[in-house]
Amino acid sequence: MNLKSMFQDMRIRYKIMMVVGITVTVGLVVTAFLYTKWQEQAVMAQNEQTMRKLTESVISGLRSVMLAGSAEIAHAYADRLKQIPAINDFRILRINGDEAFKDNKTIDDVNRRRGEEVFIPRESETLVRVLSKDDAMLLSALDSTEAVSFYSKDATGKVLNFLAPIHNQGGCYKCHGKAQGVRGVLLLSTSLAEAEFDLVKVRHDSLLVLCLALLASVALTGYTMGRAVVGPMEVVMNAMARVSSGDLDHKVPVTSKDELGRMASSFNLMTDEVRSTYGGLRMEQDKLKTIIFGAGEGIVVTDSSGVIVLVNPAAELLLGKSSEEIVRKGFDNLTDDPDTLLRWLASEDKATPNIWETGERALQVYISTIHANDGNVVGSACLLRDVTEAKRLEDELRSLATTDALTGLFNRRYLDTTLLREFERVERTGGPLSVLIFDVDHFKKFNDTYGHDQGDRVLQAVAKTFAAALRKYDSACRYGGEEFVGILPDTPSINAFTVAERVREAVAATVVDGLQVNISIGVATFPVLQVASPESLLEAADAAMYQSKEGGRNRTTIATAPGEQTA
Ligand code: GH3
Ligand code: MG
Ligand code: MG
Repeated sequence: MNLKSMFQDMRIRYKIMMVVGITVTVGLVVTAFLYTKWQEQAVMAQNEQTMRKLTESVISGLRSVMLAGSAEIAHAYADRLKQIPAINDFRILRINGDEAFKDNKTIDDVNRRRGEEVFIPRESETLVRVLSKDDAMLLSALDSTEAVSFYSKDATGKVLNFLAPIHNQGGCYKCHGKAQGVRGVLLLSTSLAEAEFDLVKVRHDSLLVLCLALLASVALTGYTMGRAVVGPMEVVMNAMARVSSGDLDHKVPVTSKDELGRMASSFNLMTDEVRSTYGGLRMEQDKLKTIIFGAGEGIVVTDSSGVIVLVNPAAELLLGKSSEEIVRKGFDNLTDDPDTLLRWLASEDKATPNIWETGERALQVYISTIHANDGNVVGSACLLRDVTEAKRLEDELRSLATTDALTGLFNRRYLDTTLLREFERVERTGGPLSVLIFDVDHFKKFNDTYGHDQGDRVLQAVAKTFAAALRKYDSACRYGGEEFVGILPDTPSINAFTVAERVREAVAATVVDGLQVNISIGVATFPVLQVASPESLLEAADAAMYQSKEGGRNRTTIATAPGEQTA
């Protein structure tokens, strides 16, 4: 975890304390730094001031001693000054940086100038070089009218040095002459170790004060921020958490008119709004539930993952399964035929109803994927409507429209449409298509002899025999009265003739109430016969049938083109 995300996850109270802590620390550190710097400068300036005064008083002391002609006393005076603890070093230097009072050079000069032995030469001489003759500080002191100061370092620490020029004036001329402007330089060094020690102590003290001030300000900030901001904010946040976990009746206390107070009242307003919207939604949902659970149509709904989440009682009834079983078997198995169901689901055409026939019911199935406004799939829905009765009525109606009432064979209307369809198919594919037409022989006489009802019963038996003698692709139709037509697709003339003969013989062999009839048949085949319409094909077969009548009845005739020989 990096620092940024750690800071983001931190509680506001600690964030504030951290920011205040950093700000106060920077402020205090800068203040402390400036303060100790200033302290140091003040102490140093004080030191310099004191030392300068000391130097000046030493020089004036020296001058009095020298003027009184007591150079040895000046020497002793210098040695005594070195004993003072604050003074590290004290020397009187010649202008070339060598220590004075160590050899006889000046004594010899003075004795020579005065022409007498004013000063007794030293028994032993030494040369002590303190500064080089072109030392920058020395040169600047020689140029100056007053003492110059500079800092250096030794084993004990920082050292403050003074170089004060000793000017040649009035009383000095007697011994030293007028030639030199400056007789020598006074070097005075004082250790700053003690002052530095004090400064370090001041630094430590201010660091301690700084830490205490820091702790106090952070603690104070934490406490006041906690009371004024974080505490009330936590109250609002806890209330928000309660509301968002579903307790819409909970109110956030409004304790002030500041931003937090306004936030709390805005939140309460929002909760009121949500509660009223939620109430409305609940009511709508209840209404919808009542409609769905009371509906006669079966409704099954899934969620986006395909799991069934709603099955209404009508769906249980129509599917003949319990809701648990429907949910367990899954949406794809609603109709026990997953492939068809998925095809319906994927189909673009939602207007044409899909019919699913179970053993005892016919169900109209509307099935769709449900999309949200953004186009995402939120589930699927299946609506089932019981159309068993409607389907039965429709089937019955269709059958009535195409069936002959007496014989149960196809009626004239069916004959016309089927023959036209088959004729057009031959025009496309090349055929062959045969039709046979037959008429009961001497039926008028039969009716007259046995009565019309007996005639009807015979017609029914003839129809049954006729239908049974055809293949399943053929159609047995009642043309009208005691005339019948057979439509034989994909049947060449010779085969149609065979079928006709089979029908004729079967009818002849059919006995009803001890009675029996014969039939005369005509057969015509397209496109062997170059006819232009299905009606012409029927007419040709009819003509062939009349030839059978004329030829003695109870026989079959194949239609030929005009001018050809009849079979
Ligand atoms: P042909 O051998 O020349 O056909 O002599 P036919 O007596 O059968 O003459 P035609 O075909 O012209 O006569 C048809 C008769 O069939 C007339 C009518 O009484 C009888 N018929 C027609 N429709 C029905 C019916 O639905 N029921 C009964 N019982 N008889 C019918
Ligand atoms: Mg007839
Ligand atoms: Mg007849």
